[in-house]
Amino acid sequence: MAGQGCPFEKRFPSELVRDDAYFMWLAYNLAVDAWRADEVPVGAVIAMDGVVIGAAHNQTISLRDPTAHAELLAVTQAAEALGDWRLSGAALYVTKEPCPMCAGAAVMARIARVVFAMGDPKMGCCGGAVALHAVATFNHHPIVTGGVLEDECRQLMQSFFQLKRGGEAGDREAAWN
Ligand SMILES: [Zn+2]
Repeated sequence: MAGQGCPFEKRFPSELVRDDAYFMWLAYNLAVDAWRADEVPVGAVIAMDGVVIGAAHNQTISLRDPTAHAELLAVTQAAEALGDWRLSGAALYVTKEPCPMCAGAAVMARIARVVFAMGDPKMGCCGGAVALHAVATFNHHPIVTGGVLEDECRQLMQSFFQLKRGGEAGDREAAWN
């Protein structure tokens, strides 16, 4: 039922300018897909040299898998596309600041850049709650950029929980956070 209730449309940015906003719009569209699939609306895209090599949305509910976050699913796709576990030179775009698990994956995968939209002061690990990307002893330090399409992605996430609050959404929010 919730999938029918997504009031947000996908956006189609110009492909001529493949900047951070362009890739974040692609992630945003995946977040819309997540909502339509009755999942918490988070989307992630991995780009290398301007080409998308991974794209996924959150699927924790449908896959009954707590690791099925958008970022991790996209990382797996990207590694398969490159035929290498190292995603050196790749950029991860995600609509919400990565959690401990996903920020950790960005470090382990040697992802060059992490770009997120809305920050998460509770669970975000790219500077929100913790800065995993900047731990001095780690052998890799992704460059982090926050706030790209922040308002749009925040509105999507907040609307999702507002529309569903009071029902099963409470459990989902708890599961997400
Ligand atoms: Zn995560």
